[in-house]
Order: sequence, then structure tokens, then C-alpha cells
Amino acid sequence: MKPKRPARKAVRKPRVVTKKRVAKRPRSAKELKERAAEYYRRLIAAYPDAHCALDHANPYQLLVATILSAQCTDKRVNMVTPELFRHYPDAAHLADAEQESLEAEIRSTGFFRSKSKSLLGMAHSLVNRHGGSVPNTMEELTKLPGVGRKTANVVLGNAFDTNVGIVVDTHVARLANRLGLTGETDPVKIEAALMPLFPVEQWTMLSHLLIEHGRQICVARVPRCPQCVLNDICPSSRV
Ligand code: SF4
Repeated sequence: MKPKRPARKAVRKPRVVTKKRVAKRPRSAKELKERAAEYYRRLIAAYPDAHCALDHANPYQLLVATILSAQCTDKRVNMVTPELFRHYPDAAHLADAEQESLEAEIRSTGFFRSKSKSLLGMAHSLVNRHGGSVPNTMEELTKLPGVGRKTANVVLGNAFDTNVGIVVDTHVARLANRLGLTGETDPVKIEAALMPLFPVEQWTMLSHLLIEHGRQICVARVPRCPQCVLNDICPSSRV
């Protein structure tokens, strides 16, 4: 009888760990500017038709729509404004509106009490101080009730083709951080960080591109990195 062979010990194969390729954060100001330029090049190629999603035909309409868009989707605002602009085609008509009926008309956009106060205050200021027209400077716009820097940037960039600053909404703030362009969380500080990274003539389009990308791909909860055109150069990429 042959002696029994000792049972062979199962040898475990070492697990092959594939290293995730994560793009490095730019280290110098020059690298950061180059990375920003590449982001812009790729995003404009991906979204050549990016534009302001608020329907408007003139600066007054865009100002009203932007005030309504606070804490509300652009889609919802676009459902409310056609009727609103029929009732109040200009600042003079809006200034004459009854607060209660205005509140009812904009109710579905949320925060309708404070928004109606802002709209009425803004319309009175336009009539009393600007002959019913929307001013085209940051200084004058931000003096209007309910108008902050973000709203002023939207109006200046899209109704007056003037790049004074960069619109920083929730999408722009999130993407600026994920893309490693800034570590700031305050919108004014994010805007200040973005401005030197992009040529001034790109500022309005930059917001549209980041907003579009934030809506379609770099969404808040789980970004769709595998489908992202920036996934090989984005420091937050998950692929
Ligand atoms: S989707 Fe992913 S790869 Fe693209 S920008 Fe957002 S975090 Fe970066």
C-alpha cells in the first residue's frame, strides 16, 4: 500500500489590483489655467448650443424670470412667465400689480410672498429711477430690490452681452470644486476664483456649460463619470 500523499495546500493567487488613474490636481497657477482651458474646450464641443434656459425676449423679462428662478427650476419658471408677461408686459404694468393677484400668479414657483415683494419693489425702482428700463451696470442692478450679484450677472451676460462676472449657481459651485478649480464654497469666492482662470469673453458661456454639464452628467448625487468628456483630466473622476 502506497503511503498517502499529504493533501496539497490550496495556494491562493494574489489578487490583481488595477490602479485607478486619477488625474492630478494642477499644482501651479499656470497648470490650473491650462486645465481650465482644456475643460472649456471639451465642454463647448460637447454642448455647442448651451444657453440661458429662462425664456425671455428682453432685459425686463429676463430680470423677472431670474428673480422667480430662486429655489425653483427654470422649467417651472418658463411655465409661469408667458401668462405673467401678458398681464405685465413692462415694468410700469408690473408696478401697478395688486400684490395678492401677483402672488397667486407666481405661487407655483415657491417663496411667492417674498418674490412678489421683490418683483413689485424692482418694478417701482425701474419706473422711478430708470424710466422703466433695466439698467445695464452691476452697480445699478444690485441696488434693485431682490437683485443680488448672481441675478445681475445673469441679466448682464444674457440680455446685455456684458461679461462683468460669472453666474455661480448650485451646479457651477459643485463643478468648480469637483474639477479642482477652487476649494471655496461661498459663491462670491468661487466667482472670484474662476474669473482669472478664463478669458472674460468666455464668462457667460462658461456658466451655461457648467450648468448643462451639471444637469446632464456631473449630477449632484452620483456623477456619471464613465460618460463624462472630462473623466481623464478631472481630479474627482470615479473611473
Ligand atoms: S462627471 Fe465625474 S469626471 Fe466628469 S466632471 Fe463630474 S466628477 Fe469629474
